[in-house]
Amino acid sequence: MASYYYTPNPMNYTDRNQMGYSDSTEQNYNQRQSAGKPFIYIRNIEKTYFTGDLPYLALKDISLTIDDGKITVILGPSGSGKSTLMNILGGIDYCDNGVINVDSEDISMMNSAQLTNYRMKKVGFVFQFYNLIPNLTVYENVEVAANLTGNPNENKILKRRRNYREIMNALEAVDMWQMKDRFPKELSGGQQQRVSIARAIVKKPRMLLCDEPTGALDVEMSIQVMKVLKRLNAEQRTNVIIITHNPVIAEMAHKVITIKNGMIAEERINENPKSVEMIEW
Ligand code: ADP
Repeated sequence: MASYYYTPNPMNYTDRNQMGYSDSTEQNYNQRQSAGKPFIYIRNIEKTYFTGDLPYLALKDISLTIDDGKITVILGPSGSGKSTLMNILGGIDYCDNGVINVDSEDISMMNSAQLTNYRMKKVGFVFQFYNLIPNLTVYENVEVAANLTGNPNENKILKRRRNYREIMNALEAVDMWQMKDRFPKELSGGQQQRVSIARAIVKKPRMLLCDEPTGALDVEMSIQVMKVLKRLNAEQRTNVIIITHNPVIAEMAHKVITIKNGMIAEERINENPKSVEMIEW
């Protein structure tokens, strides 16, 4: 499988052999390259939707990089292509051209079975309207996600025990373990969103993709949710990618990527991301 490096035009293997590099040097070279590699590396992706015969170019020549362990906000007005980009990054949709390398895997080359595996292992999704199952408790909603992966031949009792630990850890990380037996309708919007974050992190994905996670919440609840996302990033080094049209949220991110009309309008590093308490909502 092809891999793509941050450094432009790395010397190829033959060049380096001719210069007297040994195999162990080759290994060191790969380690050095991988150490400097961004978590996400996107080059020249495009996406066209068709309505009948009419094409609509939703993403136009998008290139960007995201370093490991960061909070990134993808900012842009409605219709600018944010969800399209997130769906492609999350392995829900395909792009037409270009390269998408996530955590050293070229997902643009994957077939649908490989993408399913990628989604299960690497990605947690958080949506604006939580998408919890109404007739399951908080615990059971997270359990659904916990059951999605794992060895089908694993002993059922061991699996249930391991799941219990993982589910309670996830609920603790979002401060919702006390409410594990409640149903979604017995929770506030902010609490439901925190449960949906627990569901997304229960399998410890490398990246959380959050589509307008505070879009349906008032200020107080938005603060709770953003605190949870900040903490997950700080304590577990989970890569958090938030798509939003709300510029206030961007002040908390390490990097802000602005999209307009399907193109990158700006890519900006935030040297001093603000804490949730410092934000004026
Ligand atoms: P955003 O998330 O920024 O609101 P989207 O990525 O949802 O934007 O959409 C970008 C553009 O692509 C919009 O003009 C939208 O109408 C169009 N679009 C999105 N999905 C489809 C689809 N399945 N078929 C046709 N057009 C689509």
